[in-house]
Amino acid sequence: MKLIGPITQLLTLDKLPLKGALKDEQLEILTNAGILVEEDKILAVGDYSDLFVKADKLQAEVIQLEGNFVALPGWIDCHTHICFGGSRAKDFAMRNAGKSYLEIAQAGGGIWDTVTQTRKLNQNELAERTISHAARHLNEGVTTIEVKSGYGLTVEEELKMLRAIQQANSNTHADLIPTCLAAHMKSRDFDGTNQEYLDSIATELFPILKSENLSNRIDSFIEKSAFSPVEIESYYQKAKELGFDLTAHADQFTTGGSEVAVRMNAKSADHLEASTEIEIALLAKSDTVAVALPGASLGLGCAFTPGRKILDQGGSLAIASDWNPGSAPMGDLLTQASILATFEKLSTAEVFSALTFRAAAALDLDDRGKLKEGLLADFNLFPTSDYREILYQQGKLKPEQVWKNGIKT
Ligand SMILES: [Zn+2]
Repeated sequence: MKLIGPITQLLTLDKLPLKGALKDEQLEILTNAGILVEEDKILAVGDYSDLFVKADKLQAEVIQLEGNFVALPGWIDCHTHICFGGSRAKDFAMRNAGKSYLEIAQAGGGIWDTVTQTRKLNQNELAERTISHAARHLNEGVTTIEVKSGYGLTVEEELKMLRAIQQANSNTHADLIPTCLAAHMKSRDFDGTNQEYLDSIATELFPILKSENLSNRIDSFIEKSAFSPVEIESYYQKAKELGFDLTAHADQFTTGGSEVAVRMNAKSADHLEASTEIEIALLAKSDTVAVALPGASLGLGCAFTPGRKILDQGGSLAIASDWNPGSAPMGDLLTQASILATFEKLSTAEVFSALTFRAAAALDLDDRGKLKEGLLADFNLFPTSDYREILYQQGKLKPEQVWKNGIKT
């Protein structure tokens, strides 16, 4: 048992709703606070002096902090592609030099390049790359990281990716949540239609995901260049029948995806840069969490997800990094969230919620994302006396201490 404190400001993020706009006045802020930790869970948060007496009785170890600190739950990044081979620096330079999608593809770039580079690596090599990305993320306060497959695109290659993610999860302090994105695009070497490709994945890959416990989540890329809403609906139906949770890359360039995601009761619909009033209204009424991916907007030079409108209409908004080698190479979640906040006019409470318990809901996790008794002791200590400094410094103020499962990493 450990007591950590005193903490200048501790933001519990407790008692905030899962959906809708939030004001900073709604934040519960404990001053001169402490966190009492037992094994991997929070036993109590509260006044440091009170907890000190309790800790003494319980013979807990006291970890006394020197200086000012703001405590927040560990960040949860609910959308990444950090398991990959190669680099797409050439694509990025070409795109910024004004080259078209087609010209980049003709020069050997695009997602297929990442598929080729990822297939060249064996499971250990892929796991090592994933561990190194996860370590950087954890160091910046991201204690739970969703990781997608989707650069394999055959049953064997997708399995290799998901086994690598599982292997990485056993070798990092962060929690990695694996998601099957075999429906990222139809493999170029698959001889058949989109529907036949999806059918083969559902028939051959889904049962192995269950038997090897590799993933409980099925994702897809619903877009003109990938799969149509109709094709994905029957794919999702099969996934649902087997008990998988659903999520979707939706409305990135054209609409249609979020409507399917909402109708199929997906846990989240991610991207939404192209969503119009119609899609925003559907999302706001649903239990599907809208996930903004500002890193992709920054990487491509495109519009941001309409987060303000989604919240104002009563929807739930999470913010994720979409860290991937193509469109979102930065992978700095806090910087991206801070930038989104200035463009979309999101309150600090809305951004912190989007990086914690609302992101947890997108992953269907109810054991983290707030600082309260019984939840995982995942928290960040920022070296400042005022929580508003964190977004104000636009990602440059990183946590000095990152705690995961009750252990300082
Ligand atoms: Zn993505």
